[in-house]
Amino acid sequence: MERQFTEEIRSLRLGAGETFHGEGILAVTKALLQSGVAYVGGYQGAPVSHLLDVMVQARDYMDELGVHVEACTSEASAAAMLGASVSYPVRGAVTWKSIVGTNVASDALSYLASAGVIGGALIVLGEDYGEGGVVAQERSHAYALKSMMWLLDPRPNLATIAAMVERGFELSEASNTPVMMELRIRACHVHGSFTARNNRAPLVSTRNLMEEPADFLYERLAHPPAIFPQEKKKSAVRLPAARKFIAERGLNELFAGDDSSVGIVVQGGLYNNLVRALQILELANSFSDDRGGCRVPILALNVVYPLVPEEIAAFCARKKAILVLEEGQPEFIEQEIATILRRADLDTRLHGKDQLHMAGEYNTEAMVRGLMKFLAAHTPHVDTSSGRRWLEQVNATKGKAAELLGALPQRPPTFCIGCPERPVFSAMKLVAQEIGRPHVAMDVGCHAFASFEPFSQGNTLLGYGMSLASAAGVTPMSARRPVAVMGDGGFWHNGLLSGVASNLMNKGDGVLVIMKNGYASATGTQELISTPPEEARAAAAGASAAGADTTIESTLKGMGVKWQRTVDNYDVAAMAKTYREAMTTREKGLKVIVAEGECQLERQRRLRPQLAKKLAQGERNVRVKYGVDEDTCTGDHSCIRLSGCPTLTVKENPDPLRTDPVATVIEGCVGCGLCGENAHAAILCPSFYRAEVVQNPGAWDRLLARLRGFVTATA
Ligand code: SF4
Ligand code: SF4
Repeated sequence: MERQFTEEIRSLRLGAGETFHGEGILAVTKALLQSGVAYVGGYQGAPVSHLLDVMVQARDYMDELGVHVEACTSEASAAAMLGASVSYPVRGAVTWKSIVGTNVASDALSYLASAGVIGGALIVLGEDYGEGGVVAQERSHAYALKSMMWLLDPRPNLATIAAMVERGFELSEASNTPVMMELRIRACHVHGSFTARNNRAPLVSTRNLMEEPADFLYERLAHPPAIFPQEKKKSAVRLPAARKFIAERGLNELFAGDDSSVGIVVQGGLYNNLVRALQILELANSFSDDRGGCRVPILALNVVYPLVPEEIAAFCARKKAILVLEEGQPEFIEQEIATILRRADLDTRLHGKDQLHMAGEYNTEAMVRGLMKFLAAHTPHVDTSSGRRWLEQVNATKGKAAELLGALPQRPPTFCIGCPERPVFSAMKLVAQEIGRPHVAMDVGCHAFASFEPFSQGNTLLGYGMSLASAAGVTPMSARRPVAVMGDGGFWHNGLLSGVASNLMNKGDGVLVIMKNGYASATGTQELISTPPEEARAAAAGASAAGADTTIESTLKGMGVKWQRTVDNYDVAAMAKTYREAMTTREKGLKVIVAEGECQLERQRRLRPQLAKKLAQGERNVRVKYGVDEDTCTGDHSCIRLSGCPTLTVKENPDPLRTDPVATVIEGCVGCGLCGENAHAAILCPSFYRAEVVQNPGAWDRLLARLRGFVTATA
């Protein structure tokens, strides 16, 4: 797994009155335990992976409390897990990356929302929207609306986040409705503190079992005809109950301001950016967070769905105008507020998307611009010149940066040094030179880095585990066989059924390359059903442990895949030969290449402490490193175009008569061997050499080195 959470696990045990310090997402984890959660599940994905990772590592403490933790195989299984709260008075929480995870979970969520819950059900969503987001840019808000599940969007400070977790469970129980809580990237990673409360061991738990199953109650099943009254109940019973709870418990926060002619309604999650923007405009001070100090009144919506009409109307009454700060499209909140104002017969002017952009993140700069427009229109007496000066500075800095960086090439993200997936794409690139460029269906995962230079592959990306399925319409219409690339994470998440089973059932064709690196690497190297067992990893020492598990191969065989080969990724020639065969064979049906090579990141994590221990004990160690002979290097850089390894780069040509920079291998090379493999497979210039760096050399090593030095000096 990505990291050890020893310190964080300790802080999960904090009791009443002690101070919890840490990240927002870990505050959620602690608050779940304070709420008496009985079961937790989820599927990893930034920015919420840590929630589950910590709980998985804290299994002993979870057992002590009686909390069941499950690393689910997809968001759909996590959502379905909340079914426990439909029939039993137990609190459950699940987590995943949204919007993609919510898409996968949506079937189970619809049924869950229809049946309703009696135990609190909380869904913690990593809202991966805006700068830094890595998924299709959409909002989870739409799911809340269509299923009538409530959506929390807490102010990004730890005390509010923790409190909203606890209130979230209560709201869920008070309205018999699942509650979602969206946390943007920055909210998950914001650091701070809050005063802890004691953890509550759940009443029904793995230590305190239920003697009998729940009574059979037909109306709890989301099944016709029960679904019809359930649908009516959502708006007739659950919605009013939720609004009552939100208003009575004061979940939304009002920050008074001394100019009450205008006001701002903001999603709780955007509050910090708003206060920063107001500070730049000299309309708020550093204490505006909790103690006021803001000139414009703010209604911070910690619950963005449902809104409480009376609360909105009371805030807007006697105001000339309000500005709604709502990130992303469409403007759900603004539209709802428009309806509330109309129904309440209030003539307060409503602004929002007319002053700020429709799509994309609302950062401080966007807010300063929007606020200046809004204030200029409705409070011309307010001096906003500090905002204008600040924006001029920002523009000047951007201009200067563009001037300085203008000539620099773009530096796209890429695979880790020595990644086993890179050689597969080298092989594919080599074969494409012979047979032509095929249609490449890409998938979500580390291999998506191959869409950047130097591989630039991928015609489609339709979601996690969907590559093979996305080629289904292309394959029958292509003269050249398309290829789908999928990681083992994607294979187990969705690819097995959506892709492989569908292809086999429809007697399809095509090539599927499965990157068997052993983990769900892109999300932090979480374990899969095919992760090599711990003992095999320990025994593998420096070698790849990926081959120690063959669940993928036997599953494919069991399903009826006739043509399948498992190939060592780093053997570029063998990989190219197998791939060429798959692409050109006359044999019909799906061809699967299982590209085997353990995730280098995880392998290095295993090796580093072993190596450090060995060196500290004075033991001899041989480290392989590759290099380039600068006299032989022709400077055509074909090796770089075939590899893209960050440690294979260029340096100035030491020969004053040659101007082209030469290739060089810098510190950091993990000796994966790809450089040598590529040089052979592509018949490149013979400039690569393999060196063995001997650490803690013995007498024989020293003697050999002296002899070699002597020979080379006299040659
Ligand atoms: S995390 Fe593993 S699989 Fe992903 S790029 Fe790094 S080495 Fe490759
Ligand atoms: S051998 Fe080549 S590809 Fe492998 S880590 Fe070293 S420089 Fe990178």
